[in-house]
Amino acid sequence: MDKNQIIYWLGENCPSKLNELWELADKNRKENVGDAVHLRGLLEISNYCSRFCGYCGINAGNSSLTRYRIPFDQIISCAAEAESYGYGTVVLQAGEDVCLDCDFIERVVKTIKQQFKLAVTLSLGEREDYEFQIWRKAGADRYLLRFETSNRNLFNKIHPPKPNKAAVDRLEMLQRLRKLGYEIGSGVMIGIPGQSYEDLANDILTFKRLDLDMVGVGPYIPHPKTPLGAKNDELKLSDGNQVEPTELMCYKVIALTRLVCPQANIPSTSALATLNLAQGRENGLSRGANILMPNITPIEYRQYYEIYPSKACIFETAKQCRGCMTNRIKSIGRYVGSGKGSRQKA
Ligand code: SAH
Repeated sequence: MDKNQIIYWLGENCPSKLNELWELADKNRKENVGDAVHLRGLLEISNYCSRFCGYCGINAGNSSLTRYRIPFDQIISCAAEAESYGYGTVVLQAGEDVCLDCDFIERVVKTIKQQFKLAVTLSLGEREDYEFQIWRKAGADRYLLRFETSNRNLFNKIHPPKPNKAAVDRLEMLQRLRKLGYEIGSGVMIGIPGQSYEDLANDILTFKRLDLDMVGVGPYIPHPKTPLGAKNDELKLSDGNQVEPTELMCYKVIALTRLVCPQANIPSTSALATLNLAQGRENGLSRGANILMPNITPIEYRQYYEIYPSKACIFETAKQCRGCMTNRIKSIGRYVGSGKGSRQKA
């Protein structure tokens, strides 16, 4: 599929035409990754962050947020819980927290890999290459770093570099991670103010160029206590090319991503579920996705990992999330995958 075709589909709103896209994506998903839905337990280990990302509610400038960091022993017991629920992977995500130092993460990864059969995905933002190397050696399997948008000017506006440092090229960072032996995951937000249809088509083509193992996309949800959220409307493109962060647009991007990257692992994300709690996850799974990421963050911390407002499922325990996800998967005639759910290459 070329760029013009992608742009055409992103602009298509006729329900019967879109049904063709959903069917094509679903068929492609079935042929390439099958009916299994793999579960990745998402553990949000810290909401401290030293960065000032314009879109993210846990950015350093949000002084009204209660901050937390989950202690070592509790991280390990959450991993034990994930394994007991049959999850194949634990995803450790956090803000760019300087106190999650190299040694701490190394110890966490080593302990999880020694005690459990889980795959470990890290999602800790932009870190040093030597750290990536040490964590990989400790046993980390995957790294998740969204490039957020392939429009470099837009990215620089919403994601200021570290003070006195040059801007990081996340695409290059992902390629270095791949060289170290990580499976790499990335993705974008849909409907960032200033994001055009052409930008979004370029994003999808970038997923393919990077040959990503995992691609996560979700709606941009403005957070009022962020620089971007505070002036959302004035930053939008006024030439008719502004992508809106709608549920429908998310399904189109999931479906097109499946067609362009047939073998990728694609989650139906919590941000999508936030737009449609009743059916968002199922619709994502029926239109190209094959992964769900049940939250395993202990309930006492969950509401504080507020990257965007009104996040889905913040008052449910890990156990409740597990039951809910399993039922949703069964309700659409699919089954929970066993094992780590690594990407199968053709
Ligand atoms: N510090 C890590 C993890 C960030 S949170 C990192 O920078 O990679 C994980 C993802 O949440 C981000 O990559 C971003 O795509 C998404 N996110 C952040 N703020 C959001 C918002 N307001 N709406 C939707 N998604 C958001």
